[in-house]
Amino acid sequence: MRYIDFHCDTLMMFKNPVSGDPLYENDGSVDLKRLKAADCSAQFFATFMPHPDWLKGLTDEKYRQNLYVGLISAITRHSDMVGLAKNYDDYCRNLALGKTSAFLTFEDGRMIDGRIENLQKFYTLGYRLITLTWNYPNCFGYPNSTDPEIMEKGLTPFGKDAIQQMNQLGILIDVSHLSDGGFYDVLDISTKPFIASHSCCRALTPHTRNLTDDMIRKLGDKGGFVGVNFCPAFTGTTIHDTVSTVQHICDHVQHLADIGGIELIGIGSDFDGISGELEVQSPLDMEKLFDELKRRGFTSRDLERFAYKNAERIMREVLV
Ligand SMILES: [Zn+2]
Repeated sequence: MRYIDFHCDTLMMFKNPVSGDPLYENDGSVDLKRLKAADCSAQFFATFMPHPDWLKGLTDEKYRQNLYVGLISAITRHSDMVGLAKNYDDYCRNLALGKTSAFLTFEDGRMIDGRIENLQKFYTLGYRLITLTWNYPNCFGYPNSTDPEIMEKGLTPFGKDAIQQMNQLGILIDVSHLSDGGFYDVLDISTKPFIASHSCCRALTPHTRNLTDDMIRKLGDKGGFVGVNFCPAFTGTTIHDTVSTVQHICDHVQHLADIGGIELIGIGSDFDGISGELEVQSPLDMEKLFDELKRRGFTSRDLERFAYKNAERIMREVLV
């Protein structure tokens, strides 16, 4: 069945300019060949902004450019398989041509640098989703944390203004990685549905990256979306698990649907950003999830919602 994945870190392979054609075929989880074979209709590609130490002298902007050029060159080279998409119409056009849509996103909004005009700048370049924080504070707000004082902190004044501007432009607001206080500020301020692109349930796996039942319920009421993450630490029985199984992932999908509603759920694999023993380790394994959910009583209509229809609704409502 075709599917949409809201998060992967595959573009990190372009940190430094590379030779060859690694996005077409590689030893990681995601490449164009397997996206095509697995009938992935849209892959959101994160520009993940790592800790500056990891960039080893590269500026944020140079690193962003390297990832951007890596993706755009691969799209140009393989325009029969993949097309850049900036909105729902682009997505539909690519779908009709049998192409996977590639969406550009930021994981960590620090590239926005506290300047509202930068939202327009990156919108023009094609970025359509911002994961507001990664695991450090930035101009938007504070990250999830085991320190309750940080976890309760909300958005910065800039972060609050930026939410309104993102609503106006049509940039998806992503609360994965954000503090609980930040989540509730987005809930109050955003006039459009927002998403947790790659998170799971704190009631099942008590990791601070996961969402509480209250958040899941409120996100559902707001018409939002959660892409279930395949990371062992977010899906396992403890946060120290190193194995991610189909059963564990489906437990989280089931819980999200039970608490937030069937229209809330989708996929945010986090491929190429997570490690451990992954039973679903590439797009080619996605059918394992669909088979298990079917076995658990999901109807074909429910499965379609999980795999792509809920994601398409979010695109339609926000990416105009
Ligand atoms: Zn992440």
